[in-house]
Amino acid sequence: MRHAEDVTFGGSGLDRAAELRGQDEVLQAARRDPGSECLLLWRGFLLMAGESALARLPMDHPVLQGRDKTPIFLGREDHGMTFAQDISEWSPPDAPMDAGPGRPQQAPLPRHPEVEDALHFGDLRGVMGRLNRRDAELAATARALYSWHSTHEFCSRCGRASRMAMAGWQRSCDSCGGQHFPRTDPVVIMLITHGNDVLLGRSPGWPDNMWSLLAGFVEPGETLEAAVRREVMEEARVPVGRVDYLSSQPWAFPNSLMFGCIGEATGREIEIDPVELEGARWVSREDMVDVLAGNHPDIRPLRQGAIAEFLIRNWVADTLA
Ligand SMILES: [Zn+2]
Repeated sequence: MRHAEDVTFGGSGLDRAAELRGQDEVLQAARRDPGSECLLLWRGFLLMAGESALARLPMDHPVLQGRDKTPIFLGREDHGMTFAQDISEWSPPDAPMDAGPGRPQQAPLPRHPEVEDALHFGDLRGVMGRLNRRDAELAATARALYSWHSTHEFCSRCGRASRMAMAGWQRSCDSCGGQHFPRTDPVVIMLITHGNDVLLGRSPGWPDNMWSLLAGFVEPGETLEAAVRREVMEEARVPVGRVDYLSSQPWAFPNSLMFGCIGEATGREIEIDPVELEGARWVSREDMVDVLAGNHPDIRPLRQGAIAEFLIRNWVADTLA
């Protein structure tokens, strides 16, 4: 697909400067350099400057001082080095117990006393469509890395505590010597077509009128093509023939990589698995035009920035090739 990387989180060509991750002295100097900048995360939320840009703090900002943890090194930009620091241990009295990525976007987030009033924490899912490409890549990278660290504090070989290493891109276990690397979970999301129609489904518990493409995790030992055919068969009993890869999207909620694929259904009869789906239906290209425009009577527009919306928009416009 020619425009595959135009998808939200499609990448900005960030120079990740991986060769510096093990060079402690270079990074130590970079953490004192006035040209360096640091993103701030708290329980999965990112500090924002306004509604469409990440806040970039100088390394001597008060909120970054006295932290136990060294910031993660994200890469080298025109201004200098870019880092990210997580302050999830901050526990403000007014923070709801369930603070985390699953919270409704509208809920007000607490303000950190050491952070300027002009800056505020934001939900990446709510702002992702408005970030520029560089901010989107940095945000997805930092969020996924910190999410991985927060759930992998202990060595999966021996069970002892492990420590962050390689500027945040590894965890090392001093007890058994185990080395652990950030995981990325592959997910297929598929535009299944039959003639002029596309297959949409909705999961139990989704908001009214919300429909999207079918999706599912790739299993060990499976190709992307096999995962597409299996998921569609399991969820809707629709047989799929040819499958092609279209575009991928890093999806840091928390650690997925979405593989957008197109598949040709070889039959159109639907029988849903009620555990996985509440409904599935074929929708014509003409009706999808109405859906995207917000004019369809019982299908709401798809989420801006999600790869499902991106694939469908390109399918409708005939720009998948
Ligand atoms: Zn170990």
